[in-house]
Amino acid sequence: MFIIDPHCHMVSRTTADYETMALAGVVAISEPAFWAGYDRSPAGFLDYYRQLTETEPKRAAAFGVQHYCWICLNPKEAEDLGKAKEVLAEMPRFLSRPTVLGVGEIGLNKNTPNEAKVFQQHVQMAIDTFDASHGTGSDACAAGKHHLILIHTPHLEDKLKGTRMILEMLKDFGAAIDPARVLIDHVEEHTIKEVKDAGYWAGMTIYPVSKCTPQRAVDMMEMFGTERLCVNAAADWGVSDPLQTHRTLLEARRRGFGVEEQMRVFYNNPAEFFGQSPRFRLKKLRVSEIERGVVGER
Ligand SMILES: [Zn+2]
Repeated sequence: MFIIDPHCHMVSRTTADYETMALAGVVAISEPAFWAGYDRSPAGFLDYYRQLTETEPKRAAAFGVQHYCWICLNPKEAEDLGKAKEVLAEMPRFLSRPTVLGVGEIGLNKNTPNEAKVFQQHVQMAIDTFDASHGTGSDACAAGKHHLILIHTPHLEDKLKGTRMILEMLKDFGAAIDPARVLIDHVEEHTIKEVKDAGYWAGMTIYPVSKCTPQRAVDMMEMFGTERLCVNAAADWGVSDPLQTHRTLLEARRRGFGVEEQMRVFYNNPAEFFGQSPRFRLKKLRVSEIERGVVGER
């Protein structure tokens, strides 16, 4: 089985993690910009964007893994509007780099007015900078009016309210936002339905101690279907594990999901969502009759 992990913070991981993931079938990783565990200066963000766009693709390539990333100021540091203004002014030149898939992971942390304001500024930038950064000719994107957008939803008691605030803010952009070009991450049982019903992609983040477990993720796959749904390990500097995506795949297999459905969630869905950017180089895969016969359908 080939796997695309749509959300991993590899700057926090070792080369041994890259090797482990490659051995376990990971062929591509997408890495959203996030909080470093401490608040950075605006200059620190520029260094971070260089790390995401210059260093990580090389580290991943050493293990045969394609590395893509997303650029933004994370919601936790968006509370400082002065810093947000400085960092956002520098973002467009990084959004035009060849391995950048879009704007993310933006969103909310504590659902404050400042976080909401910076979220809206990011969405506006995804719309305003799209043509300029994609150029013309073979690099032009045929469909869609804005950069792809990857969204972080808050934790625990802030999640439901924050998810609804995000959905409302996106709605306010009207036809300028195409829900098929937006992935809303860290969904749980009480938020997945509203996200999918509104036409957005949903991401489930599997952690060893918090957020979602492999069992709960597969429960949601059974309850809400596998369309427009991605699974990620979000491996970062905290307690996390880059093979949580694989544990979810094993749980799905154990419960009788066929190879085609497994392939859809862990490879073809991210390939379809990311493939809306001409910069993402992998295409969807088809399961052959032989594979169907060997692994069986449920
Ligand atoms: Zn993240």
